[in-house]
Amino acid sequence: MARREYPLRLPCAHKGCKEQSNWVYPTRRDLMESFELKHYSNGRWRCIRHINPEQVLSLSNLVTRAEVVSEEKHGKLFFGSWGFVSGLGFKVFADDFPAGTKLIVRAEIVPLATPKDNSHD
Ligand SMILES: [Zn+2]
Repeated sequence: MARREYPLRLPCAHKGCKEQSNWVYPTRRDLMESFELKHYSNGRWRCIRHINPEQVLSLSNLVTRAEVVSEEKHGKLFFGSWGFVSGLGFKVFADDFPAGTKLIVRAEIVPLATPKDNSHD
């Protein structure tokens, strides 16, 4: 016999957005005590596109750039909250550089050029 599951489905709070989040909990108690229910219910959840829309690359936003300076915390170095940062094409350990090192990450999308419409020439 299949065990019952307790789903939590929340729509994105951004007006007109059709995205939904889906979580499943093994017990009602897990659902009621979940981080998601406490922090995202009642119109507080937003999808990736609407949390930081300026970070989502699109035809009207082809480039993003972020930078963070390393800091020492508890005897170790961190870029923000991370001692190790990685992304497409790079990996970096904060401890490999002196405190105050700046990490700059830039992402750019190059859309496929659409053929020029010469049908009315
Ligand atoms: Zn959304």
